[in-house]
Amino acid sequence: MADLVQIRRPGVPSSGTPPADPTHASAPEKGTVYVETYGCQMNEAESALVRGQLRRAGYRLVRDPAEADVVLLNTCAVRERAEERVFGRTTQLLAHRRHRPDQVIGILGCMAEHLRASIRTRAPHVGLVVGPDGYRRIGEMVDAARDGRPVVDVTLDRREDYAGLDESEGITGPRANVTIQRGCDKFCTFCVVPFTRGRERSVPPREVLRRVRGMVEAGAREIVLLGQTVNSYRHEDATFADLLRAVARVDGVARVRFTSPYPVDFDDALIEVMATEPAVCPQVHLPLQSGSDTVLDRMGRGYDLATFVHLVERLRAAIPGICLSTDLMVGFCGETEDDHRATLAAMEAIRFDTAFCFAYSDRGITRASKRLSDDVPPEVKRRRLAEVIELQDGHTRASLSRRVGDEVEVLVEGTARRGDRLLGRCRHFWNVLLPLGSAQPGSIVRARVEGSTGRALLAHPMEGPSSHPANAAP
Ligand code: SF4
Repeated sequence: MADLVQIRRPGVPSSGTPPADPTHASAPEKGTVYVETYGCQMNEAESALVRGQLRRAGYRLVRDPAEADVVLLNTCAVRERAEERVFGRTTQLLAHRRHRPDQVIGILGCMAEHLRASIRTRAPHVGLVVGPDGYRRIGEMVDAARDGRPVVDVTLDRREDYAGLDESEGITGPRANVTIQRGCDKFCTFCVVPFTRGRERSVPPREVLRRVRGMVEAGAREIVLLGQTVNSYRHEDATFADLLRAVARVDGVARVRFTSPYPVDFDDALIEVMATEPAVCPQVHLPLQSGSDTVLDRMGRGYDLATFVHLVERLRAAIPGICLSTDLMVGFCGETEDDHRATLAAMEAIRFDTAFCFAYSDRGITRASKRLSDDVPPEVKRRRLAEVIELQDGHTRASLSRRVGDEVEVLVEGTARRGDRLLGRCRHFWNVLLPLGSAQPGSIVRARVEGSTGRALLAHPMEGPSSHPANAAP
């Protein structure tokens, strides 16, 4: 590693005390940069933070990697396929070196932390490898890489909460992510996150509220609070329920959501805030992972199925019609056919509205990698995954069909990918398609659901403004 540059790590400011911006917005332009994001909403928020840091360091953001002096891929390490995709992308990017021979390619985020300097062994054309706690100094690191000095910085810093920095750069649309918690202390046996993102730390409430107000000033109407286990948030005596209530009451915030909560830490105080604060949306993503108690125990999730079902009942009693999504993993170490059938039975009993379904893959550094055997054959994983997806597709279609005829409140986000309709989200977080030209992006309209596509609701705006009190927001 003798050729690698180490950028001096400045002291992280004490929580809640924004540091002076070390750069100057009017610095001469140093070059152009393009940031591409893979993975979760946390990565989207961090890409926005990186863009802001680089703009302040004198770089201009571009939308086309062919025009960039620096291309940064902000990556995910949750599944092997995601990492392979990123390696493939770096090879594709080499084509730009025909007309831009000095283009720097960098890998940021969880994959950088997971594979570290070995990324440069496999892909020597990658000049920058930076983990999720290194973005405060990303400008200096990019400068060094452009000087031909490869940089690897994957130090995790349990104090880094990016206080004083901004996650709004490059954000378009009325929905904005605000990170309130970083890292994870749960150490589920299958999960790479505690190793790639370090220990759990909560952003002080004052800093969270500063970020939320900044997002509202930048045009956001819906705030999504992010954390690896967002409801485990704790800062001094402030709980997640306290913080959620405070964010919901910020002027100009029409809607608040949060993701992803940890089932064990979902307490009555949080359910009460969800049920009583008008801006908090009736939707929650609650990862179950498996319907088998044996598998849940082996995963180290800290709950059994009965406890999870009881939580779902409490949520549905307090917030009638709440939209529930989940994560389901098939083929975890030692999963038998009986365990798999228990997952299908749990899905039938709970009837999630939507689910992210995936097959377990061994990530090499987790507790399961070290202690358990990845013994479910790939073809069995594929078959179980197909069964789970098929069952969930039916439940999702049924949930959407039940909404036909309802009046929904839609936050219009822009034009749908095919370009023939407007796309928005209702408070339950369903995608809603509206006729083109029937509403302004950024507005909140009431609409009647007329049908569904199997993945989205088809609706038509009704006369008159939304009755939601926050519709008067900017
Ligand atoms: S709670 Fe478990 S699955 Fe979620 S990030 Fe933490 S270790 Fe990973």
